[in-house]
Amino acid sequence: MSFERLADVLFPDLENTPEYYLEKYPKRNMKEGAQVVRYAPSPTGFQHIGGVFAALINERLASQSEGVFFLRIEDTDQKREVEGAIVDTIQTLKNFGMKFNEGMTGEETEIGAYGPYRQSLRKEIYKTFAKDLVKKGLAYPCFCTADSLNATREKQMAEKITPGYYSEYAICRNMDSEDAIKRIEKGDRYIIRIKSPGDINTRVEFHDLIKGNISFPESNQDIVIIKSDGLPTYHFAHAIDDALMRTTTVIRGEEWLSSLPIHVQLFEILGFEAPKYAHIPTIMKNDNGSKRKLSKRKDAEAAVSYYKEAGYPMVSVTEYLLNIINSTYEGWRAENPTADYHEFPVVLDKMSKSGALFDLAKLNDVSKEVICRMKAEKVYDYYITWAEEFNKEMYGLVSLKESMLKDVFNIDKEGPKPRKDFAKWDEVKEKIFYFFDELFSKETEDKIELPKTLSLENSKAVIEAYAKSFKFNAETQEAWFDDLKAIGIELGFCANRKEYKANPENFKGMISDVAGAVRAALTHRANTPDLYAIMQIMGEDKVRERFENYIK
Ligand code: GLU
Repeated sequence: MSFERLADVLFPDLENTPEYYLEKYPKRNMKEGAQVVRYAPSPTGFQHIGGVFAALINERLASQSEGVFFLRIEDTDQKREVEGAIVDTIQTLKNFGMKFNEGMTGEETEIGAYGPYRQSLRKEIYKTFAKDLVKKGLAYPCFCTADSLNATREKQMAEKITPGYYSEYAICRNMDSEDAIKRIEKGDRYIIRIKSPGDINTRVEFHDLIKGNISFPESNQDIVIIKSDGLPTYHFAHAIDDALMRTTTVIRGEEWLSSLPIHVQLFEILGFEAPKYAHIPTIMKNDNGSKRKLSKRKDAEAAVSYYKEAGYPMVSVTEYLLNIINSTYEGWRAENPTADYHEFPVVLDKMSKSGALFDLAKLNDVSKEVICRMKAEKVYDYYITWAEEFNKEMYGLVSLKESMLKDVFNIDKEGPKPRKDFAKWDEVKEKIFYFFDELFSKETEDKIELPKTLSLENSKAVIEAYAKSFKFNAETQEAWFDDLKAIGIELGFCANRKEYKANPENFKGMISDVAGAVRAALTHRANTPDLYAIMQIMGEDKVRERFENYIK
């Protein structure tokens, strides 16, 4: 049997040998412990939050260890490819503040000495290694049709034995090379499979950096390495690429854990040293009490675009993902309130081994903290950038009032307990609308929120009296409140809770109700930031105008 001739017929025009590539992509010269990791998405056009999650773990580990993080595009399934997806992926990484050292930088461009970083441009490389395996009798062409494979599968299922292409079911495994050559020359379609040396009765012990110690039976399947279109399967491309790109640690979704026996074997057959592996738990959500995978079809929050449209700062989403990666993040953040999240050390073996639960309510809490820590100017910059794309009306209003808006975003920011008003930018309008006449004038009376003890009529009476005698230019907040209190007492409101509780019938209400009426007249809302600050930002003219309109 001449494997050599078979290899030449299968792959006639290859210029290079495996040795050539192994030399071309030498072992990287890096400091001890530096990790070479990658993000390796397929360009399907959909940016899943799970992808960002995986990329973030990789990027953090590379950066922490002063290693290399590269972007490889896995486009060997050309049916699934979507135009523009590569640029979109790169932009997504950028939006999340992730820098990569090597890989695709555009649809056609890349940086780094270990490329090409796009699998469809690496066909020659895969073929060279596949040819070498055929030459050594470790891989072979398989001519079985889809129909015959299906028939075998059905038979195996009916007999309750493991389905697949192995031992006696691997019909083409021992085909004579000359017979195979004749079929190839006749134009029969074929794929290339490995000749698995595995025995399912032998268990392999393995250490996964997240899952810990695991073991599995050796693979005995003659898996496909080159498809009929000449492109490699995921399995083969993974082994070749991660070996030649000198990846030290493969950090990928746990859906690949079941393929690990195949991958370990491929590295062995190819004579490569296997990388370390870390299988990341799948992002799950709680759906009416039961956990399930975050689904691209059912859950809007599976898409990265969801966060952008709702207006979550990407740093909030990143901090939230860090919370999922290591639950110690929350404590670290509490102890280091002003630190950059890049300073948090991500540790793989502290990661939850089972599903990572994704929870929008928790994301909102994290995001409120993140926005609360931002300076007002930064909040403004973020908001205006978001509004320009997603809320043209607010963009128009806000861009004309930059300095006012910065004051608004600064209310109660510098004190010991800064306000946590917003989790995302689409919540801003409802919370600040009253600063804009254009929005405020659209409000109807039924939207006015009042203290329970006050009717609309009574609140109007309060405002009528207050408007006549209040002093706008109080020196301090205390002086302003004393003024409000004095007017309230005059009107028959009580300044002392105990006194009021003892004889409520003697009073019209509490002083807080007077403030409630003022708040209602100015904002129509019962919950707002500090009223004094609001009045200062609105200015005397607007305050007086609002009072007038309120009692009209
Ligand atoms: N292209 C594979 C995927 O998107 C990559 C998995 C890996 O990181 O190896 O699932």
